Amino acid sequence: MFVYADNAATTCVSKTALDAMMPYLTTQYGNPSSLYAFAQNAKEALENARKTVADIIGAQPKEIYFTSGGSEADNQAIVSMAKVGALKGKKHLISTKFEHHAVLHTLKKLEKEGFEVTLLDVHEDGVVRLEDVEAAVRDDTALVTIMFANNEIGTIQPIKEIGEFCRARKIPFHTDAVQAAGHMPINVQEMNIDLLSMSGHKFHAPKGVGVLYAKTGMPLFNIIEGGAQERGKRAGTENVPGIVALAAALKESVDNMEANTAKIIPMRDKLFAELGKIPHSKINGSLEHHVPGTVNMCFEGIEGESLLLLLDSKGICASSGSACTSGSLDPSHVLLALGLPHEVAHGSLRLSIGEYNTMEQIDHIIKVVPEVVSYLRSISPVWEELENGTRKHLI
Ligand SMILES: *Cc1c(COP(=O)(O)O)cnc(C)c1O
Repeated sequence: MFVYADNAATTCVSKTALDAMMPYLTTQYGNPSSLYAFAQNAKEALENARKTVADIIGAQPKEIYFTSGGSEADNQAIVSMAKVGALKGKKHLISTKFEHHAVLHTLKKLEKEGFEVTLLDVHEDGVVRLEDVEAAVRDDTALVTIMFANNEIGTIQPIKEIGEFCRARKIPFHTDAVQAAGHMPINVQEMNIDLLSMSGHKFHAPKGVGVLYAKTGMPLFNIIEGGAQERGKRAGTENVPGIVALAAALKESVDNMEANTAKIIPMRDKLFAELGKIPHSKINGSLEHHVPGTVNMCFEGIEGESLLLLLDSKGICASSGSACTSGSLDPSHVLLALGLPHEVAHGSLRLSIGEYNTMEQIDHIIKVVPEVVSYLRSISPVWEELENGTRKHLI
């Protein structure tokens, strides 16, 4: 059996998204910047997509900028607010320890350029506290950027409350909503969000297309220089097929959100219940504030990488840590931010399921994971020490 359980890494393109983009890959290939009628079909599709996305998140079409993905949107939002802040002598940026690397590495770069960065703790439950944000802001804070839902453990942050606080303090607030968009309701007005990033391939659009929402009045600086596309804020001929697909996929996900959630939750709960029976295992992140499909667990005495390879041999695609860091031997920065010891964080598994998964597939995972964990423990010197008492169990 083949089971794709890595939907937080990327998703399949839905039939709706594929059908929507197909004309723009075949017959309607005009450049939206060209003046003849033929190209105006592409221009119209682009602007319809902008309106669709804007309507879904409670924004105006002129506040939507299409990018090459979530990473570019994060970069542009953060660098823009840092530059604007610096012009006013504000060089302090606030974020959290468990952001995506698109955020963390951008902040690191700005730190080298003289900005001061405060990274907040996320507590053991994987949730940032408003009090911590309140305590960290200063008169020279130029930006608060806190992700909507974490990509590794699925925890949801108190975005509305943080947004309300930042709005009152007149501090721009950005959220990386890549793992939330299409999976839970988002309204930038109700949630007091000034800037927001999305990525199409996390909700069944193709890879290489994303969205930056920037509220009117939030000045943007270009990451990509060139033509005057996207109202001069993002040069380069627009990815019309990708953008059309993104809008169609987002609309489809939002229209079916309730049904999808109702389908995913029992699968996720079964995974938690059954895999939680494995001795010396631990569920990571609060289940109270959680996106529907993400399951993150640690199993003591094993290496996450070995687990993944054996799961792969049984047809199961999963992840440990984020896809971008696999290949490095450091444990996930997200799990370390929760305060997990290195030894425990090493034995992590992320299963992220979606509406295309079936209960039969979940049953396959539930059968295979305990077998593989037992096998790895049987050949692990660390596990032997844990079992004979020369090393103490941590979970
Ligand atoms: C995937 C992801 C990104 C990066 O999006 P791309 O479109 O792949 O560049 C950023 N943030 C989070 C939380 C993600 O999960």
